[in-house]
Amino acid sequence: MAGIKLLTVRGIEIKMHVTFPLVLVWAAVQFGFLSTGGFSLSGAAFGIVVTLLLFICVVIHELAHSMVAVRMGFPVRDIVLLPLGGLAQMERMPERPAQEFLMAIAGPLSNVAIAVLLIVVGLLLGIDVQLRTDLTHLGWADALPYLIFTNIGLAVFNLVPAFPMDGGRVLRALLATIMSHARATAVAVKVGQGLAWILGLVGLWDGNFVWILIAIFVYSGAAQEGRMAQVKNVLQGLRVRQAFSHRALVLSPDDPISRAADLTLESFQADFPVCDEGRIVGLLTHTDVIRALKQRRPETPVREVMRVEFPTVGLDDGLFEVHQQMAEAGLNVLPVMDEGQFLGLLTRRDVNEVYQLLSVSPELMTQRQDK
Ligand SMILES: [Zn+2]
Repeated sequence: MAGIKLLTVRGIEIKMHVTFPLVLVWAAVQFGFLSTGGFSLSGAAFGIVVTLLLFICVVIHELAHSMVAVRMGFPVRDIVLLPLGGLAQMERMPERPAQEFLMAIAGPLSNVAIAVLLIVVGLLLGIDVQLRTDLTHLGWADALPYLIFTNIGLAVFNLVPAFPMDGGRVLRALLATIMSHARATAVAVKVGQGLAWILGLVGLWDGNFVWILIAIFVYSGAAQEGRMAQVKNVLQGLRVRQAFSHRALVLSPDDPISRAADLTLESFQADFPVCDEGRIVGLLTHTDVIRALKQRRPETPVREVMRVEFPTVGLDDGLFEVHQQMAEAGLNVLPVMDEGQFLGLLTRRDVNEVYQLLSVSPELMTQRQDK
């Protein structure tokens, strides 16, 4: 996910999504109108300040997840701040229950630690640490108790045992110690969706739309996690050699871009390897073709517009990992190589086809493995 880079902590970039400032506008309006009798500038300023402070706590929460992940050998790409919270983007997720448990619990624990720290600071400075007013009458003196309150709230909310919350991962990790990972995921998904239903119905009963929105968010997050686990379950153990297309159409560096357009229309292929005397020298994806035709003349040689740097995959690379690699690189196709030799293409469609065929007929897998 793209964003504006704010700072780097121990090699992890912290970025702000372009929509993030919306939450500050929301806070200014929300807190500005809380005080009695119209809009108050001081209230709006209070809203912005406490929201910014709260997001520092969110960053610490995501950093806690990230630090544990990095320590266990799982690289974290970046942390993106969205209006609804933070998101640590990882290349791979830990699967061993103990690792997943530690990584998931680190986030909520960091909020508990912040709350405890703030309580100690408050007591040392002689500031009241208990939130004595209701949320509609907050003033500057309530900033510290408000932050303590929201950090405890963050910890509790994130520990709700439903995907995509941390609690969902904690639950799966605990379940995975007594059953298979796939089964643990399925149970955790069901628990999460059950809770989402309850939350949604309570929200409906109460006329509370925020709860209904959270319920929808939790329900679809759980469904997505379930799908991911299912894809992984089906694709696990499969290799590139069982899925890639051997008969790929190939371009030469001297071909005009228009040839790529012609081949796209005449065949099922839209992304092309560029080969020179049997060696692959470039890759021309469908997006590259469209972009090139917009900017250049159709007779421009392919060598001038092809990409020369691109990942490749080997015959024995795992299909699930390669599928993820494609998603990360934003490519629909990867050249398949064996000992420097170009063999064919693996497309996302190939992977999707394998997935669909095998989910309806698992015995196909053993037959293809024999090949
Ligand atoms: Zn978290």
